[in-house]
Amino acid sequence: MPAPRLRSRSLRKLFRKVPGGSTHIHYKRRKPKPAHCSGCGAVLKGIPRERPYKMRSMAKTKKRPERPYGGMLCSRCMRLEMIKRAIK
Ligand SMILES: [Zn+2]
Repeated sequence: MPAPRLRSRSLRKLFRKVPGGSTHIHYKRRKPKPAHCSGCGAVLKGIPRERPYKMRSMAKTKKRPERPYGGMLCSRCMRLEMIKRAIK
């Protein structure tokens, strides 16, 4: 039986083969949900699903696509927004 602090559903179990040949369970915090487009709600691509401590150490260019509204809107919604702003 694992220690009480490890009997949590908020931790995921990773079955890892150790050099001795047996399998050990490693416990890790779950990853957050993927980022979604604020326009249509689609899952955004190019945005890593990592916990904040890892996101902090990551370069800005690795955290979102480098375009207007990158990391906020999907490419289709971004295009629609740009057209809407150009017409106004
Ligand atoms: Zn969208």
